[in-house]
Amino acid sequence: VTTTICDVAVIGCGAGGYKAAITASQCGAQVVLIESESVGGSCLNRACVPKKALAHIATLLCKAQTFMGHGLKGQIFGDLPAAIAFKDKLIQDLRRGLPMRLKQFAVEMVKGQARLLSPQRIAVDGPDGTRLIEARRIILATGAAPRALACCPVDHKFIVDADSFIASLSVAPPTVLCVGGGTIGVEAAFLLQQFGSAVTLVERGPRLVDRPVVSDRAATLLERRLKDIGVTVRKGLTVRRAQVVENGVDVQFSDGTEARFDRVLVAVGREPRPDDLGLQALGLLCDANGFVVTNDYLETSVPGIYAIGDLKGGPMTAAAALHDGRIAGENVARGNTRKRNYNQVPLVLDSVLPIAAVGLSEDMAEAAGFTPDVVYIPFGGSVKARAYNDSVGFIEIVYDEETGQMLGGCIVGAGADELVHLLVAACRSRRGLWSFTDLDYGHPSWSEDMGTALDPYLGALVQSANTLFRPGIYAAAD
Ligand SMILES: Cc1cc2nc3c(=O)[nH]c(=O)nc-3n(C[C@H](O)[C@H](O)[C@H](O)COP(=O)(O)OP(=O)(O)OC[C@H]3O[C@@H](n4cnc5c(N)ncnc54)[C@H](O)[C@@H]3O)c2cc1C
Repeated sequence: VTTTICDVAVIGCGAGGYKAAITASQCGAQVVLIESESVGGSCLNRACVPKKALAHIATLLCKAQTFMGHGLKGQIFGDLPAAIAFKDKLIQDLRRGLPMRLKQFAVEMVKGQARLLSPQRIAVDGPDGTRLIEARRIILATGAAPRALACCPVDHKFIVDADSFIASLSVAPPTVLCVGGGTIGVEAAFLLQQFGSAVTLVERGPRLVDRPVVSDRAATLLERRLKDIGVTVRKGLTVRRAQVVENGVDVQFSDGTEARFDRVLVAVGREPRPDDLGLQALGLLCDANGFVVTNDYLETSVPGIYAIGDLKGGPMTAAAALHDGRIAGENVARGNTRKRNYNQVPLVLDSVLPIAAVGLSEDMAEAAGFTPDVVYIPFGGSVKARAYNDSVGFIEIVYDEETGQMLGGCIVGAGADELVHLLVAACRSRRGLWSFTDLDYGHPSWSEDMGTALDPYLGALVQSANTLFRPGIYAAAD
């Protein structure tokens, strides 16, 4: 049996593992990266990347409608099979490029299923037999699985889950039920509605996208816009029973009503995968839901073993997994110096009303002991939004009234997915709201609107000395 000795072994080549491997290598470690399936994990193969490509086409369709009679005429229809072909080619290309990039960073890829034998030894069952890897540090990045709903048994054909949803698409089903009003349910509902499906979205809670950093105002506007494009949104409702019948699914809801759908998507969160890694045998501590417990440095209860991304629970996004990868990659190579901080990681939602948020909402800021104030900037006053005939949306910026420190923000409307990074930078800057005072902007632009709208608030702050600003949750975390 071949034995490879290295500084760091990373298990799982999804967003988290890939980033961790590259970061550790950049820090001087000799790194081996093990993957049992396609490189790129969920993000590249069945989640963020294919979703982004399809959501972009859906957005183009939506935008074209807003210019009918204002510079565009005729009719535009979505062509889902062609969009799928475009998406497939994109993934193939990116899959090919990834190993080359890893090679550039001197990361050795090993194909196969990894099992932990001890805190420093891994067996990899690959196409050429079993291979042993000895590593001083191990990073686990094996992801999670879609949470199952007993009343909606997934058959990956008529009832699909978040992982099989995109792969199962070929033509737009005439009627679709999306179970779960979180980011994935909302994004799927938008996408399918734009390609011609009649979509019903059910959410058991009182609002869509129930994430504390996304404000109620944002969730309410999102719901209104989804309804505007024809999505049926039903809140406070769950599925009691779903049964596959000939070419469809019969569904009974918790209020007793019944309906038949051509396809059902179950998108109700994620749960741990079966323990094929041998976590329990090594005594790795897991929480009540089965996710691996880590400290602020992303180290597990077994010293030298780190866990990142979906496997360890917390925010289940590729953006958070990439954050983890960066932090753990540095910690394994240099000792535990960097702490995770999800307040720095933006959450992005692609739909008829894009939403991006970061840091603390007003409530969260109050609970954290700040004296928050919220700047509310409606897109109606934005020159660019008006020129784009797309002025539904707003920006909310949460800052500490006492010090001017930026605490977070929620951007709702076109451009949110990019504009949010201006907020991320300002939140991390010790200059807080002052970050915006001496910036020059392209004109007209959404970024410019954000700067201009802050002027009245900055006026008051300029009276106080810049030194008032004190490092807070963002700066201190570094
Ligand atoms: C439809 C959908 C859309 C999404 N859109 C977004 C988005 O736009 N933005 C965003 O930030 N997040 C998005 N997410 C969430 C995001 O995809 C995940 O949070 C992210 O991919 C998790 O990354 P990870 O590295 O933890 O795990 P994964 O990407 O799941 O990677 C884990 C890897 O480990 C491998 N593996 C598992 N066990 C073993 C083993 N024993 N040996 C070897 N290899 C193993 C797996 O094959 C897999 O490749 C979306 C999710 C879904 C389902």
